Amino acid sequence: MRIDLHTHSNVSDGTEDPDVLIASAAAAGLDAVALTDHDSTAGWDRARAAAEGLGISFVPGMEVSCRTDTGISVHVLSYLHDPLHAGLREEIEKSREARLTRARRMVELMAGDFPITWDLVLRHVTEGATVGRPHIADALIALGIVKTRSEAFDRILTARSPYWVSHYAPHPAAAVALIRDAGGVPVFAHPSAFNRGAVVGGAVIHEMIDAGLLGLEVEHRDNPEEARVELRRIARDRGLLVTGSSDYHGSGKPNLLGENVTARETLEAITGLGTGTAVS
Ligand code: AMP
Ligand code: FE
Ligand code: FE
Ligand code: ZN
Repeated sequence: MRIDLHTHSNVSDGTEDPDVLIASAAAAGLDAVALTDHDSTAGWDRARAAAEGLGISFVPGMEVSCRTDTGISVHVLSYLHDPLHAGLREEIEKSREARLTRARRMVELMAGDFPITWDLVLRHVTEGATVGRPHIADALIALGIVKTRSEAFDRILTARSPYWVSHYAPHPAAAVALIRDAGGVPVFAHPSAFNRGAVVGGAVIHEMIDAGLLGLEVEHRDNPEEARVELRRIARDRGLLVTGSSDYHGSGKPNLLGENVTARETLEAITGLGTGTAVS
């Protein structure tokens, strides 16, 4: 079985509709795929219906934006939580609002140096989608300022750039506890993605485990091999699941569906642990 547990549609910053993404997953030879849009579950119904039509398994998921007290960005994947859980919904709504205000502010700052406007950015945001820097990148591409999202991140949108603005997000341990309360299975996404900015140390990981974290996304292109060795050791010592995934964003990133996969027994464990909604 080929299982990919981390993908994005245009419900957040991926480029494909949820049903198109599922068709891409089937075409890539996947047997099971999770849709994990940033701070949104709005794509679940369309993805589930498409997966049913194509005869592959659909795992409902979400990637929750978090921030530590020291300002480090952390992403927590949630599988099989109840999408109607009030506490979790409230937190992701706050993050989505804050992401919007923050993106507008970044564009204001950028407008001093580039011919960019908020209206130009909005052309690349699907109605109701969770807004992120990739949408600003798309406007920069359309303006001919950069060629790819990756170039936009490297040159203009990094956390070290003068246009960088932070946004509200819950503490990772608080998010983990909320996900568990909603019947979900929390997995720390790309824990060692040094290429995106600062990453958390062992103390925060152990704090998240104490709050109910159930897995680590070890096999992800942004985790350097040396870091994976340490992540596998933590998973072994503390009895956590280990997942592997692509973090596919359609044409918005080079990541390919199925470039990392998760073991069948691990998906079975997730299916057994998640009580908020079901794999179909
Ligand atoms: P934001 O959500 O606004 O903090 O932006 C981060 C998002 O941008 C991540 O979820 C990735 O999907 C995407 N991203 C980060 N780095 C890159 C990159 N180098 N190229 C393309 N997309 C990226
Ligand atoms: Fe993303
Ligand atoms: Fe992420
Ligand atoms: Zn992701």
